[in-house]
Amino acid sequence: MARYTDAVCKLCRREGQKLFLKGDRCLSPKCAVDRRPFAPGDHGRKNAMRRKVSEYGMQLREKQKARRMYGVMERQFRRYFEEASRRKGLTGATLLGLLESRLDNVVYRLGFADSRSQARQLVRHGHFVVNGIKTDIPSYLVSTGDLITVRERSRSATYFKERTQMISGSSLPTWLSIDAASMSGSVLNGPTREEIAVPLNEQLIVEYYSR
Ligand code: SF4
Repeated sequence: MARYTDAVCKLCRREGQKLFLKGDRCLSPKCAVDRRPFAPGDHGRKNAMRRKVSEYGMQLREKQKARRMYGVMERQFRRYFEEASRRKGLTGATLLGLLESRLDNVVYRLGFADSRSQARQLVRHGHFVVNGIKTDIPSYLVSTGDLITVRERSRSATYFKERTQMISGSSLPTWLSIDAASMSGSVLNGPTREEIAVPLNEQLIVEYYSR
């Protein structure tokens, strides 16, 4: 599937806010949003001053922001929305719950990677097992009770040894738990909206697809 291959910082500048796509760099003075707080391109600076965004524009931007944060392509994102619409409960919150339950996001949330894109790569390279089964599909949806562990043969890798020492659990969402010693994490419950710390207005996304 085609993926976005240009500089990811441009995505944050286009949305006008940090999407935290590059790990530590996002918190450093090198962050492009802090250094150039206007959209990329020849007219980015000029447009930022006189931009009036329509209702549709706001809905579109919110959908794009969510897609970019979680690294999901258009068609797949629409499938998540359709699945969320079919399920009981608030569609927007369910949509975020589905995105949050992706294995690459869970690996990132557990602290095994600095960013979702790095987590996706680690998953693709087969470094994780879910309930004892090697799982290399980043979009795999975890469920309550699932145990995500660094694969036996990957545990001796310097990356995971160092990473495990850095994992503190202080920034861990309440729906996950981590056991750094065994390089594993568990899903305690499906994430509720309150447990998903993302600066998104999911209602705008619902409105975008309900036009
Ligand atoms: Fe976005 Fe991070 Fe780049 Fe800043 S450093 S623009 S937050 S990806």
